[in-house]
Amino acid sequence: MKKILPFLMLIPLLTFFIACGQQEETSNESQPDTKKATVKTTENHDTTFDFEKKSVMLNSGYEMPIIGLGTYSLLEDVAINSVESALASGYRKIDTAKIYGNEKEVGEGIRNSGVPREEIFVTTKLYMTQYAEAEQAIDDALKEFDLDYIDLMLLHHPGDHDVEAYQAMEMAVEEGKLRSIGLSNYYIEELDAFLPKVTIVPALIQNEIHPYYQENPVIDHFKEKGIVMEAWYPLGGRGHTRELFENETIAKIAEDHDRSPAQIILRWHLQKGVVAIPGSSNPDHIAENINIFDFELTDAEMKSINALDRNEKHDWY
Ligand code: NAD
Repeated sequence: MKKILPFLMLIPLLTFFIACGQQEETSNESQPDTKKATVKTTENHDTTFDFEKKSVMLNSGYEMPIIGLGTYSLLEDVAINSVESALASGYRKIDTAKIYGNEKEVGEGIRNSGVPREEIFVTTKLYMTQYAEAEQAIDDALKEFDLDYIDLMLLHHPGDHDVEAYQAMEMAVEEGKLRSIGLSNYYIEELDAFLPKVTIVPALIQNEIHPYYQENPVIDHFKEKGIVMEAWYPLGGRGHTRELFENETIAKIAEDHDRSPAQIILRWHLQKGVVAIPGSSNPDHIAENINIFDFELTDAEMKSINALDRNEKHDWY
């Protein structure tokens, strides 16, 4: 009995410690970190493209086409006609922005096309001058498009009040006005500083990318966070396309596949896992740019285009 007495005395002590541990667990549960509780985590979100469906699943749970029409500088009837032309050629994704001044025309092109609204993925962007009044700006965009919801809204650039503007977009997601939200012209540093301040991880980031400006470390960084990368200036941008189309490597691959240089460059984007939104008002070019799903670049061809990177940005931001 003497021998087991010390052990018997330990029992109340052990019981006390176990109870304290349980209490701590329970109190953690009853007082959740509210910010964390609503975070839509993207850990393990797979940003791999589905080439059969020509789409990618965003971390928001919405599917998005991997090629779309860019509408920068397309105004009035040109914008309406280009959107109609794209939808007739099989596009289901249109990219615009408040600053392009054509949201109304994009909405009109969509309605004229006869393609059901729910089949079309519409992206727009808030401009920096709208960030302080973002809630109003979101409502204005819906009104301008004359749509019930916007598939994806981005902040166009980092800037004053960008966190508040993003938080207004988060609220608009809760309210069903926006389906997915993201950023544009944010790179690694900007994104890493931004993420701890917001709740919803961006579904997509749209930055300059083309064979002369590839941003490979940025693409990898975003993919690791489950964020889809989208290329603006996928063909190098106005004033630079010819130089890329005439590049020897690209021209040779185009010849070997009996395709245009534009098609080779766009296919390269997709095989890298980067969404492309080439801009054009020319119906032939619009049709050509989406006709890239019946051929494939070899690993060697991908590598030779990857080797063209020269860190050459074609715009300042
Ligand atoms: P782009 O690289 O798509 O090149 C467009 C140019 O290529 C135009 O001159 C067009 O006529 C020509 N082109 C298109 N298809 C062609 C083809 N098959 N053959 C020959 N020429 C062809 O540049 P972009 O349109 O300025 O950029 C794409 C889109 O990205 C824009 O329309 C816009 O929606 C978006 N964008 C976003 C930002 C941003 O800050 N987020 C900045 C610039 C552009």
